[in-house]
Amino acid sequence: MPSLPAAVPDLLDRLEAFHGLQQPSWPVDPYEFLIWWHCGYPASDASCARGWEALRRTVGVDPERILAAPLAKMTEALKGSGMFPEVRAAYLKEIAQRVLSEFGGDLRAALATMGNNARKALKTFHSIADPGADRILLFARIAPVAAVPSNCTQVLGRIRNGADSDTYTASYRDAQKAIEAEVPRQFHARARAYLLLKEHGQTLCKRTHPKCGECPVREACAWFAQSR
Ligand code: SF4
Repeated sequence: MPSLPAAVPDLLDRLEAFHGLQQPSWPVDPYEFLIWWHCGYPASDASCARGWEALRRTVGVDPERILAAPLAKMTEALKGSGMFPEVRAAYLKEIAQRVLSEFGGDLRAALATMGNNARKALKTFHSIADPGADRILLFARIAPVAAVPSNCTQVLGRIRNGADSDTYTASYRDAQKAIEAEVPRQFHARARAYLLLKEHGQTLCKRTHPKCGECPVREACAWFAQSR
């Protein structure tokens, strides 16, 4: 018989035993993350990594180098990593300019002094909403917030409630509440939860057609119990 609902720490232990230790595959420095995030479109680990590597190789990623580079060269560097390379190149220049002029050239240091306003400041950058701000604050070790991978908010809802929430906002908020309540407010613990939920949501518990037959937590999953 399934033992429902499983506690989040127990689920994370089972996910780690199956998926292994996880490490972020993106730059954890806030400025570099913003650059990386715009290096691919649609943004994914693969597209952003591809664009980031091309940019690093041909232009560089420091603010000064990005501002000095011709827009056409930036666009060329981003062509192989998705749509709208010229638009993304312009966003990169805007980020570089703002970090130099508004944040003294060190975005992380500036955010670390802002307290609760750090989230607000991050959300003034293009395409950064609460999930992105949470991710940056957590992995830059500015605040141990309960960040949830934006493309995997469905995982905890399915396991514990047998369904995802009605809206994306509710899905994100409910997953965040579960982490806040059960995962210690520590950088390592919250980052581990984020990375394991991301890996699980991308490989098995996908938004459409979850691979329940291969899932290491199916016996503790309300969604799976309902489907039998
Ligand atoms: S059993 Fe299915 S729905 Fe439940 S966590 Fe695993 S993959 Fe997701």
